[in-house]
Amino acid sequence: MHIEIELLPESERKDLPPSSNLSFGKHRSDHMFLMDYKAETGWHNARIVPYAAFFLDPASACLHYGQAIFEGLKAYRGKDDQIRLFRAGENMDRLNHSAWRMCMPQVDKDELLQAIKALIRIDRRWVPEATGTSLYVRPFMIATEAFLGVRPAREYLLSVILSPVGAYYAEGFNPVKIFVTDQYVRAVSGGVGEAKTAGNYAASLMASEKAHELGFTQVLWLDAAKRHYIEEVGTMNIFFLLEDTLVTPELNGSILPGITRDSVLCLARDWGLKVEERPISINEVLDKAKDKVLKECFGTGTAAVISPVGALYYKGENYPINGGKTGNLAQRLFDEITGLQYGKTEDAYGWIDII
Ligand SMILES: *Cc1c(COP(=O)(O)O)cnc(C)c1O
Repeated sequence: MHIEIELLPESERKDLPPSSNLSFGKHRSDHMFLMDYKAETGWHNARIVPYAAFFLDPASACLHYGQAIFEGLKAYRGKDDQIRLFRAGENMDRLNHSAWRMCMPQVDKDELLQAIKALIRIDRRWVPEATGTSLYVRPFMIATEAFLGVRPAREYLLSVILSPVGAYYAEGFNPVKIFVTDQYVRAVSGGVGEAKTAGNYAASLMASEKAHELGFTQVLWLDAAKRHYIEEVGTMNIFFLLEDTLVTPELNGSILPGITRDSVLCLARDWGLKVEERPISINEVLDKAKDKVLKECFGTGTAAVISPVGALYYKGENYPINGGKTGNLAQRLFDEITGLQYGKTEDAYGWIDII
């Protein structure tokens, strides 16, 4: 794939934000990647250009009928000044899976990965170096064909933007309190829960706003049909350590197949833990919490890597987990995965791409 490159003049490049003040998603780098699709010609006009607003026809299909998908991965700067991507090929595969589910076109995985690497090389100075910080990479695809009517669009835009992000745990692990909702659901069986598509996140806002009002950090989602089986926590996958068995809900079509989830399963198996991917009900978890069989609970996702859960709140009752403290397994997984990402641990799994 040929990528046309138009660089922002040096004099117009932005000042880097101080690494102590990055938070998440607030700043964007100097450049972005764009590529167009038309049904007749396929993908074309791949280009890296100065970051700027783009023009959309008000009738663009994405604005009305929701054909919009995205990915999220990070570039990490190690102490050796090398920049690493973690399992980025998996993100490309998942983008294509989301595209398939939303009747959007496939992209060439290797070409998109090359484009992302080229973009990061150009904006290399935007990869922060302070411990725990990284450059968040956001590929996304939207339907741009101008028409009103419900059918798959025939024109799309694929873009990649970059955003330096702060350390998720600036003051160390802080286990979160979770509100279990049996009123709202995130996704339904047969729906689009397994796709990273925009509408899923709009659908989740009401429940998380209500949880925030009540003083909780995240929502635990239950299955839509019975409000019985556990699905995910916020925008993370969820794990339970029951005695010495690590349990996570099986991928059933309504759960997002997290890459961190898969990494945790792989590491835990290699460390000799018993691992189960199976339906797990909220009642089982709460009973086991009461009986002290539930040793740990944590969420997994690219943003936080591991997010320990200190308590679950369900039907007016609070269930503390591990005394509200971070468990040993959560800590070990966090250290191992971040060790790989920052090049401190040897890449025995072939998960790392050096840019
Ligand atoms: C992105 C996402 C995850 C986590 O996926 P990772 O690949 O581990 O970052 C989990 N659940 C939802 C709903 C998500 O959108």
